[in-house]
Amino acid sequence: MPVSDEGFDGSGADWPRHASLTREQVFARDHDCCVYCGVEGTPETLSVDHVQPRVRGGDHSAGNVVTACTACNARKAHRRHAEFLADEPEAWRNFRARARYVWPRHLAAVEEELARRSRTKRETRAPGRG
Ligand SMILES: [Zn+2]
Repeated sequence: MPVSDEGFDGSGADWPRHASLTREQVFARDHDCCVYCGVEGTPETLSVDHVQPRVRGGDHSAGNVVTACTACNARKAHRRHAEFLADEPEAWRNFRARARYVWPRHLAAVEEELARRSRTKRETRAPGRG
């Protein structure tokens, strides 16, 4: 089925989140750049990353897929998406700036993870040290 170019204006924010995109369309939407580090790649060095993994019920909707370079994909490895971004402030900054089309719940999950960690840090700080 031919896909219309409507909405492919590059603004990201207007991207239809429900659309099911091919690998090529995901890369085109993200300007062939990794959403985590901003590095421009080629179809050989880029991959489609599912924000919510398929095994956890994530689908292939536009709001759940992002462009990631193989280096970032390897760094993310087994970590949950929220975990990965909470661990890597720069990746989180890039992601927030670039991936405006993702489902808001994915962004909320990272915010929650960060809030949870700052709470945990305060609670586990031993008295009289540091
Ligand atoms: Zn990257």
